[in-house]
Amino acid sequence: MITLEGISFKPYIEEKTLKTRIQEMGKEITSDYTGNQLHIISVLNGAFMFTADLVRTIQRPCNIQFIRLLSYHGTQSSGKITEIMGLNESIRGKHVLITEDIIDTGLTIDYLYKSILAHEPASLKVASLLSKPDMYRGNIKIDYLGFAIPNRFVVGYGLDLNGFGRNLPAIYQAVK
Ligand code: 5GP
Repeated sequence: MITLEGISFKPYIEEKTLKTRIQEMGKEITSDYTGNQLHIISVLNGAFMFTADLVRTIQRPCNIQFIRLLSYHGTQSSGKITEIMGLNESIRGKHVLITEDIIDTGLTIDYLYKSILAHEPASLKVASLLSKPDMYRGNIKIDYLGFAIPNRFVVGYGLDLNGFGRNLPAIYQAVK
């Protein structure tokens, strides 16, 4: 068990399991993009570790860029996105793959997907390490998914609680 910001977390997905699954995802992506090069758009901060490990398993030429989403938080953390920072507009006609850490309600990916689509890529797909299917109310297909998890807060492997926990090499789940 570990404690972050006064909340207890228990081990949930161990490092070896993450590595194995990410290797499988990389193989699938490598095979799907035969003869093509990829333009990977990684969403900071949470996806930094997943992206770093995933791209090392993809055996195709990868152009990698990192973006940040700015969201306006009201009293409820509904996380309405107001801006995408760092999006290089030269993705027109390119094969784009978004890499995300976790897809919860799907609001974030929905906004991002539509914004990127407006730049007219040749193709657009989504890879996410985690998703919470019980919470999902979007309609964007997650093309490459690491793990579907229950609706419980997780940290580690890039995912944070108030900025802490990103350095943990495995995924931990909040204890009720
Ligand atoms: P969505 O827009 O899909 O509801 O939310 C996606 C974002 O919510 C993620 O990129 C992440 O920042 C945050 N999020 C959702 N669930 C979790 C969780 O269990 N742990 C952490 N650390 N962040 C989460």
